[in-house]
Amino acid sequence: MYNLIEGKKISEQIKDEIADEVKKIVSKGGKTPHLAAILVGTDGASETYVASKVKSCEQVGFNSTLIRFDENISENELLRAIHDLNEDDDIDGFIVQLPLPKHISEDKIIMAVDPNKDVDGFHPQNVGKLALGIPSFISATPLGIIEMLKRYNIETSGKHCVIIGRSNIVGRPMSILLSQKGSSGDATVTLCHSKTKNLKEIANSADILIAAIGSKEFVTADMVKEGAVVIDVGMHRTESDKTKSGWKLTGDVKFDEVAPKCSFITPVPGGVGLTTIAALLLNTLFAAKNK
Ligand code: NAP
Repeated sequence: MYNLIEGKKISEQIKDEIADEVKKIVSKGGKTPHLAAILVGTDGASETYVASKVKSCEQVGFNSTLIRFDENISENELLRAIHDLNEDDDIDGFIVQLPLPKHISEDKIIMAVDPNKDVDGFHPQNVGKLALGIPSFISATPLGIIEMLKRYNIETSGKHCVIIGRSNIVGRPMSILLSQKGSSGDATVTLCHSKTKNLKEIANSADILIAAIGSKEFVTADMVKEGAVVIDVGMHRTESDKTKSGWKLTGDVKFDEVAPKCSFITPVPGGVGLTTIAALLLNTLFAAKNK
């Protein structure tokens, strides 16, 4: 029988720990941590993610500011808004919710964020520090997955971790973290992508399999070793007549057939999505404390 890795339980734990720390900081006369989020346009999924982030800030006692722009905002206007947040002493960290409209260069926007306020961990300076093992902001999804593995006492040392997907925000930083020396690292990592040959065979040799492909129910039972740990990063909105919203979330893993083979598996929803938000709060606390 598999064990479910409960993202909700972990994220509540992390939030309680952060809330305690905020109380301590404030009781000693310190400043309340403040996270800002920029949202461009009205994409449904982005709206939902940003709303959860803002709500989570309230839960832990952070201040939060949501800055909305019309999808027609020019790149220069958005860069000016980022400059203002960089200069604002009250803001400890901020995020620009991706994806952005096509006429805005995401790379330019990421580069414009002050690396000391880059709580998404996307700036090259933070990615470089991560690669060298220097304390830095770590992209929230991989950081949340590391918290999951730690809190469920899942050993990574000497294990074969296979990651499917090499994005800059999930797969690649995940591979760096798991291959680092020390606790929650020391794994032998294989990073797979669309040009990988024998993907099924490689996935089958994984002690820990992380799916970040962006393809609904891509990972099937025949790709998973008996007793493996499976982490599903995928998030797909699919229409459903069984929910009030008219849609439901599905992952990159075909849960029903994969779960019986696993020792541990994350559900979607209720898995990685929630720990990602908790990890963003951890990064914001780190920003506030290291100012
Ligand atoms: P992405 O930028 O969409 O990239 C997908 C990766 O998967 C690429 O590296 C691609 O290879 C690889 N890939 C695509 N098809 C493949 C195939 N047939 N075989 C092997 N590899 C294949 O990835 P992402 O931004 O990391 O997103 C992945 C998923 O995670 C999406 O569903 C996204 O919504 C979700 N997500 C969830 C969270 C969360 O908080 N839960 C956070 C971020 C993302 P190439 O590089 O060769 O193209």
